[in-house]
Amino acid sequence: MSLSPAAQRVLRAVTATLVADSTADLAERVARKISALPRAADRAELDLLLRVLDIGLVNLLLSGIPRPFTRMSPAQRERCLRGWATSRIAQRRKAFQALKRLTTVTHYTTPGAARAIGYPGPLGPPPTTPKPIRPLAITTATTLSCDAVIVGSGAGGGVVAGELTAAGKDVIVLEKGGYRNEADFTHQEGEALETMYDAGGLLSTRDLGLVILQGATLGGGTVINYTTSFPTPDAVRHEWARDHGLPHFESTEYARSLAAVAQRLGVNTDHAKPSGRDRVLIRGLEQLGWHHGLLPRDVRGCTQDDACGYCGFGCRRGAKQSTLVTYLQDAAARGARIVVDCDVRRVIIEDRTAAGVEARVGNHVVSVRAKSVILAAGSVHSPALLLRSGVRLPALGRHLALHPATAVLADMDEAVRPWTGTVQAHYSDQFADLDAGYGFKFETAPIHPSLQALAAPWESAVQHRERMAKLPHTALVGILLRDRFGGQVSVDRDGAAVVDYRLSRYDRAHLRRAIAAAAEVLEGAGAREIWLPLARAVSYRPGTRAAREDWLARVDAAGWGPNELLLVTFHQMASCRMGASAKTSVVDAEHRVWGIRGLYVADASVFPTASGVNPMLTVMAIAHRAAAIIA
Ligand SMILES: Cc1cc2nc3c(=O)[nH]c(=O)nc-3n(C[C@H](O)[C@H](O)[C@H](O)COP(=O)(O)OP(=O)(O)OC[C@H]3O[C@@H](n4cnc5c(N)ncnc54)[C@H](O)[C@@H]3O)c2cc1C
Repeated sequence: MSLSPAAQRVLRAVTATLVADSTADLAERVARKISALPRAADRAELDLLLRVLDIGLVNLLLSGIPRPFTRMSPAQRERCLRGWATSRIAQRRKAFQALKRLTTVTHYTTPGAARAIGYPGPLGPPPTTPKPIRPLAITTATTLSCDAVIVGSGAGGGVVAGELTAAGKDVIVLEKGGYRNEADFTHQEGEALETMYDAGGLLSTRDLGLVILQGATLGGGTVINYTTSFPTPDAVRHEWARDHGLPHFESTEYARSLAAVAQRLGVNTDHAKPSGRDRVLIRGLEQLGWHHGLLPRDVRGCTQDDACGYCGFGCRRGAKQSTLVTYLQDAAARGARIVVDCDVRRVIIEDRTAAGVEARVGNHVVSVRAKSVILAAGSVHSPALLLRSGVRLPALGRHLALHPATAVLADMDEAVRPWTGTVQAHYSDQFADLDAGYGFKFETAPIHPSLQALAAPWESAVQHRERMAKLPHTALVGILLRDRFGGQVSVDRDGAAVVDYRLSRYDRAHLRRAIAAAAEVLEGAGAREIWLPLARAVSYRPGTRAAREDWLARVDAAGWGPNELLLVTFHQMASCRMGASAKTSVVDAEHRVWGIRGLYVADASVFPTASGVNPMLTVMAIAHRAAAIIA
């Protein structure tokens, strides 16, 4: 569905108001993104919103400006949008964020606009690396059969594919994303988001309160992730064994799986050369005498130089040991058939037994008959697929954990160049266990223009642009919260996944503590000005404790509810959780969906709770064990 002509007219006025020096085709490009949103309901809502903005009476009531948006003066338009951004009405804030994110991210991920704020990427063309995997071409309606069909090729699916083929099984992998390898990693931010991230990087919770980043490409999250490879912490293994009736998490069997995947990926701490961001983090932590440590990473021969930091758009050197260059290649070499651009719509269930899946590649229907069906579509899509297939269990889609992440940011005197250098090298567990294993980690993450555009408060186009132009001197302390109380995945009328998530009061208290502590770290590192990714621009110049406390009071007054504070999730977990009963979980200890023979789940969705550490290695260890059971 494309935007109606009336909505397009308003969109032109909105984009020109949001971005100073916007290009003539910006509205058109934003309109194309809206048309490509996966949910029809979201597309229709944006069309309606734009048309409502052009009703004079609505603007009179909501903004005190009795004119259609397109007939306002530039100053009135700015005042109108500012009012939406900081409104007490959640729907208005949601509407503003939808438009701001779409517009500013589209603009600043354009190479010309990015260079104008001092961002040099991308650094030259990609290498001409050959493609070792030959996906199966689908050109007509197709029926296939195999021992095991795996839905999704990320951390979970990739490992299951590698291990099942090693056990001599005939395997088919169906992946929604395309096959892109080093030769395709252009490092153009906009293109990378569109081609390798789910929903082009625009996925979020229903209320837009959390941006959901997850991979959608052959290799899933492991291709675009930041390489941090923590093993499952002993305390979490103990908690899962004790509180969820899953003793195997403390067994040598699980420890062997963890060791096996870490070895295949070459996880090591020899590639933790601090980037400009990490140097700021370390300086601040040391000033305060707080914990910091080296991050284990799944890289071989990572040069950790200026060309690094673009790893979120794929590693051109093949140093990152994603499933693309490890388990999937192993599987393909052993004869696994891999189908890309393949959207699995439902599991075929006959007589309470999974008989295969039905998928679409473009306009072609692909049916795969298999003895075992293994879902590894990630924590948003695995439960959605089960729901679409008619599976009903009380815990299905519930308990979704997201490790909500935000950051406290700072303007530094030094040129941090926060997009470059080792993608993640150091972390702090100073506050990881505030209560029963719940708390937060500090890590950094590369800031490319899209992230700065999302984070920068918008009070006017000029103010937003000024903040964007400070990107080269911006540092951050990233906050990764282990959330105790989760959200829910459901499906809409069309079967598309919908995510609902509200930060609980308990988790909010930890987040508040994290914001205060992160500001202290940045003060210790010598920050010149400290700010938060709020809808309002609320910052302070460090000096005294009173200055920080005054800032925190202003932060509280500005509000940090949905669409007031930017929250992003890089880690989705626990929406098909494993447990000891069909009443409280979705799969049993052997990954079988309760009540259906031959149907397994083997991805982050089976975590009993949030892992508290970056989850990839835990997903892989779980998948490694699952493959042995299924084989
Ligand atoms: C930017 C970013 C950075 C990250 N950094 C780290 C890090 O440093 N360390 C770490 O431990 N974790 C990190 N993560 C998280 C980590 O990558 C994920 O937790 C992990 O990949 C999850 O594994 P999974 O198998 O559950 O899902 P995924 O790896 O996401 O794989 C799911 C796959 O299923 C496919 N799929 C979905 N629906 C369908 C369908 N209907 N049909 C067919 N295929 C489908 C998707 O396209 C995707 O490829 C990061 C994530 C992101 C987004």
